[in-house]
Formats: sequence, structure tokens, C-alpha cells
Amino acid sequence: MPTYDMVCQDCEHKFTVFCAISEKEKQVCPKCKSSKISQRFTSVNIGGSKGGGGGCSGSSCAGCSGC
Ligand SMILES: [Zn+2]
Repeated sequence: MPTYDMVCQDCEHKFTVFCAISEKEKQVCPKCKSSKISQRFTSVNIGGSKGGGGGCSGSSCAGCSGC
């Protein structure tokens, strides 16, 4: 069962629901019972920390070709 991080748009209460994706739209805020909730996408690292390389400045890098 997937979990979804949700946030209530009325009271900004953050909560997590455990439900099927078809049930997700039917959830309500457990605090104020509002149905105006939206999914909260937390920051997930998706290949974020790649690159940099460090040493290459200009074209005088000996260890690589074409960076
Ligand atoms: Zn609420």
C-alpha cells in the first residue's frame, strides 16, 4: 500500500495517508475534515548530486577528454 504525504489547504495540517491511489482523492484532513487537501512532494534526490567533477577548469585537464 503506498503512502502519500498530504497537506491540508485549509489548516495546513500535514499528514500521511495509507491508501490505494484510487482512494487518495477521497481523503479528508484528519484535523479539520476538509477535503481540500493536496499531495505534498518532499524533496527527493533524483540524480541530484552528480556532476561537479571538481578539477576541470578549461581545456587543460589531463585526465579526461572533452569536459
Ligand atoms: Zn485541515
